[in-house]
Amino acid sequence: MHEISLAQEVLTIVQNAAIRDNFTKVHKLTIEIGRLSCVEVDAFLFALENQKLESLMVNTKITITQPEGVANCKLCNSEFKLTDRWDSCPECKSNQITITEGEQLKIIDLIVS
Ligand SMILES: [Zn+2]
Repeated sequence: MHEISLAQEVLTIVQNAAIRDNFTKVHKLTIEIGRLSCVEVDAFLFALENQKLESLMVNTKITITQPEGVANCKLCNSEFKLTDRWDSCPECKSNQITITEGEQLKIIDLIVS
């Protein structure tokens, strides 16, 4: 399960940050998961809730945001929103596009004490 290892990764990042920045409680954790990232958000959240560390994250409010995909067309250079990674350019119908947003999974906010 892809989502379980991703949840583990997030927890490791939080744990390392706790050691580095010397905090003991995480109040709020906001994670950005791009809509094109192939991550099953419910499964990810479930895995994270199940694995979160008793001491550090027992009362953590976890928020997931899902920004839309954005791509650039290599042919006509237009930038457009992408709902599916296999979409083509709405201007010139080319499928030579570069995805610039929407594949990421990252921690964007961490409120701690
Ligand atoms: Zn184009």
